[in-house]
Amino acid sequence: MQTSRHPLLSPAPGTQRELISLHYGRSGTEKAYIQASLHADELPGMLVAHHLRQQLDALEASGRIAGEIVLVPMANPIGLSQFLLHGHMGRFELNSGENFNRHYPDQIANVATAVESELSDDAARNVRLLRLALREAVLQTPVDTELQSLRRTLMSLSCDADIVLDLHCDAEAVLHLYTETPCWPECEVLARFLGARLTLLAQDSGDRPFDEICSQPWWRWAEQFKHRFPIPQACLSVTVELRGQADVDHALARRDAQHIIDFLTHRGLISGQAPALPAAVGDARPLAGSIPVKSPSAGVLTFLRDAGAMVRAGEVLAHVIDPLSNQVSELTSPVDGLLFARESVRFAHAGMKVAKVAGLTALRTGKLLGD
Ligand SMILES: [Zn+2]
Repeated sequence: MQTSRHPLLSPAPGTQRELISLHYGRSGTEKAYIQASLHADELPGMLVAHHLRQQLDALEASGRIAGEIVLVPMANPIGLSQFLLHGHMGRFELNSGENFNRHYPDQIANVATAVESELSDDAARNVRLLRLALREAVLQTPVDTELQSLRRTLMSLSCDADIVLDLHCDAEAVLHLYTETPCWPECEVLARFLGARLTLLAQDSGDRPFDEICSQPWWRWAEQFKHRFPIPQACLSVTVELRGQADVDHALARRDAQHIIDFLTHRGLISGQAPALPAAVGDARPLAGSIPVKSPSAGVLTFLRDAGAMVRAGEVLAHVIDPLSNQVSELTSPVDGLLFARESVRFAHAGMKVAKVAGLTALRTGKLLGD
C-alpha cells in the first residue's frame, strides 16, 4: 500500500490541510475508488474505511489485490475541523455555505471536444482516450479556494475509476443507495452484496453531486456520440448511505467492509472465489418518487413508525405536539412506500422535512436532492 498526500490550497498563511489517499494494487487495471465522510459529520463510512483497510492490508500481503483500489478514509479535512458551539458542522463549508457534496466542476463538453477527432468504433480505446482527457481536464481545473481545491483533488483521484463508492449516511435510516439510472444494471449487484433496502435512481438530479460527476460523463458522451462512436457506461458510481449518523458500530462496519470486499472480488479486483450473489432485500425506485414528510407546525416530534417500515398513504408516521395548546398534529405518509429515513432531532419547526418515504411513482420534478 502506498500513501499519497495531497496538499490543499492554503486558506491563510501558516495553515495548510491535506487529503490523504491509500493506494493498493497497480494502475492500468480495473480501478475502484472508495471515499468516506465527504460530509464530515457522517462517520459510519470512516469506520468502514478502517475495517476495509485492515482487510485490504491482509489481501495485499497474500498477493490477492488484482486491480487498483484507492481508499480515502477521510474525504473532507475542511469539514472535519468545523465546529460551532460544540456542534460538528460537516455538511456545508462555513465560509461559503456550500454543500461539500455539490457543485463539482463539469468537464464533459470540454473533453468531448478535445477527443472527438480521435474516437473510433473501438469502445475500449474510446474509454481509455476519454479517461486520459478527463483526468487532464480535471487537473487543469482552475481553483481559487480551499474548497475548490478539495473538490479538484477528489475528482483527480476518482474520475478515471471503473467503480466509485462514496460512503455517507442519513440522520436515521436503513442502508440505501443513490445512483444514476444508467448505472443500475451494475449497481443492482452491489445492492445485493451490501443488503441495501432501496436504491434511488435519477439521471442528473441537479447541482452536480460527487457520485454523478463520476458517472454522468459516460452517458452524456454516449448520447452525444450516438450512432457514431460506441461509448459504454464505464463508471459505476454510487452514494452509499450507511444507515444513520449514530450507527458507528464495529459489528456493522466490519460487515459492510466485508460486503464491499465481496463485491470487489465478484468484479475481479480481488482474486479468489467471490461468495454467491445474495438475494435482493430491496428494490430500485425513482428518486423523484422519494417524498418528504413535512411538519405543518412546530413542536415535540415523536415517531410512530421506524425507518424500514413499509407504510401506506395516509398512515400516521409521527406526531408533532405543541405542549402549550396541547394540540397533536398527525404527520401522515404522502404515498405508499418504504419509510427509509427520518430525522434524528426531536423538535420540529414549521415546514421541516422530518422523514422520507420512497414510493414507486416519480412525482417530483426539478432538482431532486435536498440541501
Ligand atoms: Zn452525506
